[in-house]
Amino acid sequence: MKAHRPIIIRGHQRLRIMPELPEVEVTRLGFASSIAGARILAVRLGKPLRWPLACEPAELVGQRVHSVRRRGKYLLLDLDHGILLLHLGMSGSLTFSQSSDAPGKHDHFDLHTTAGVLRLHDPRRFGAAVLVPGQDSPQAHKLLDHLGVEPLGEGFDLAAFCTAMRQRSAPVKQVLLAGEVVVGVGNIYASEALFQAGIRPTIRAARLSRPRLARLHHAVRDVLTRAVAKGGSTLRDFSNTQGESGYFQLEAMVYGRAGQPCKVCATPIRSIRQGQRATFFCPRCQTP
Ligand SMILES: [Zn+2]
Repeated sequence: MKAHRPIIIRGHQRLRIMPELPEVEVTRLGFASSIAGARILAVRLGKPLRWPLACEPAELVGQRVHSVRRRGKYLLLDLDHGILLLHLGMSGSLTFSQSSDAPGKHDHFDLHTTAGVLRLHDPRRFGAAVLVPGQDSPQAHKLLDHLGVEPLGEGFDLAAFCTAMRQRSAPVKQVLLAGEVVVGVGNIYASEALFQAGIRPTIRAARLSRPRLARLHHAVRDVLTRAVAKGGSTLRDFSNTQGESGYFQLEAMVYGRAGQPCKVCATPIRSIRQGQRATFFCPRCQTP
């Protein structure tokens, strides 16, 4: 990645869709190697975000950023003393650039470092930047403990997935969205994974057979992996285009396609509401 050019991860704002795990991972990949080893020079806070920073900005100054990890949709910046947790909320996006333009009205957190400026742009302010003393601190436990297994990590094990799903009586899509069995599968990717697995979103998780759960397990990982790969490849073009993010460049099979013909069987895609969220499925390819 060329460090002198800004990285802009904000395509999802244009689409008015919440950042999901692949977007957060692509964001991480976009600046993690550039910021690693940099020292914090200054911190600028804009309007209040979802949670307060939990320290004086001056406490961050002089600390080094060692690495950037991800847990669910949180980014974890490992500092000399503590971890800075960043969350993009509903509408947040991060940019990392060497120039420090004057902040706009929706830029609510700037981390000036020796490698560049990390800026959180968040019109709806559901995002956050929070310092926690360490991963074992009560503050970190409160934010991170309820998160399920990482779908892209080695812990996403088929046997454990089957056991956990069999204990849930809610519709399978809502179980995926809840993030307790597996973390970070949001509305778009849950719909797409269920299509890939041929499973109707309304079926109760506990009723799914093991072969179907195996297909779903594979589909969740596959859909997210492809989205990250796609986002990552688009990311390389950021420096030229400035603004087209890798956000959901995967061609959706069902999401947002109500009434349009299924790409597999030509049956019109159906849209229903499940727990306040839109669900899309093919009534023929996805069986109850
Ligand atoms: Zn179909």
